[in-house]
Amino acid sequence: MTRQLESSAEQVYALAFGAHPDDVELACGATLLKIMSEGRTVAVCDLTRGEMGTLGTAETRKCEAKAAAEVMGYESRSSLDLGDSKLFYTEENLTEIIRVIRHFRPDVVFANPPDERHPDHSKASRLVTDAFYYAGLQELQTTMNGTVQKPHRPQHLLYYVQFKHLDPDVIVDVSETFDASRKGVLAFGSQFYRKGSTEEPKTLINRKEFLTGLEARARYFGEQIGVMYGEGFLLSGTLGIRSFSTVFSGKAQENG
Ligand SMILES: [Zn+2]
Repeated sequence: MTRQLESSAEQVYALAFGAHPDDVELACGATLLKIMSEGRTVAVCDLTRGEMGTLGTAETRKCEAKAAAEVMGYESRSSLDLGDSKLFYTEENLTEIIRVIRHFRPDVVFANPPDERHPDHSKASRLVTDAFYYAGLQELQTTMNGTVQKPHRPQHLLYYVQFKHLDPDVIVDVSETFDASRKGVLAFGSQFYRKGSTEEPKTLINRKEFLTGLEARARYFGEQIGVMYGEGFLLSGTLGIRSFSTVFSGKAQENG
């Protein structure tokens, strides 16, 4: 891990996993900022160091991930170094993720979507989905720096939208935080287009149009719920509603 986690748990409200550093900022950064603006805490865990990326080195990406965490204001950002493009379904990898879930004891977990263009994204999705469940098993013992961890099963697992188009189950209104979330994305300077940049080779994501494309999707999702910007998510299970009017709010409530 780039950041050594403490032996004792550090509880957060939301824990966002990404196969590579920058997955989280690109797909759900504005939602994470919104959560923090509501007074809740967020931690991010990158499953790999992104060392197979065409642009930049593992060291650059480590610095960029740290810079992104600072600008976004996460409680914590850690990296598991499970191997970019080697993110296999193994007991060891599964256990590493369970340890992180038990350490942060989140209510909500975010993960890569199950069906994606980059195989690491789909593999990360499967690993996090299973770890989400197994972390709650009493008989499955794990330790963190020699201390036995307590089981913990979070309440909700949400998959963010990445390269492939998905019809989201829920769309979060991120009109207030979308612009600020771009700073988190741009912290990964080696990956994206910069003004005057003549960097080679050209990749799918360092084209000038890539960031415009991301904004277009946020506008499209926003349009679906009648706001400026939105981020879409798939739910891993059925959403139970405790407060009807909080979810299905009316005009009177929205207008204060
Ligand atoms: Zn990725």
